[in-house]
Amino acid sequence: MPIYEYACRKCGHEFETLVRSGNVPDCPSCRSTELEKKLSVFATAASSTEAAPTAGPCGACGHPDGPGACALH
Ligand SMILES: [Zn+2]
Repeated sequence: MPIYEYACRKCGHEFETLVRSGNVPDCPSCRSTELEKKLSVFATAASSTEAAPTAGPCGACGHPDGPGACALH
């Protein structure tokens, strides 16, 4: 169950809430549903992991099967 961070567009209140699919959260302060959805902690962590590719085992071409797996080396 993902936790999402929201900022209320009406009163500026920021809060985190669990969101089920199909469920529209509202501001705990003013009950407005005009919310700006921020990235969840989990989504941020996942995307940062993808954005930092590790070097492949084969130093020359990065072939995932290691040195010698690619025909060029
Ligand atoms: Zn609000």
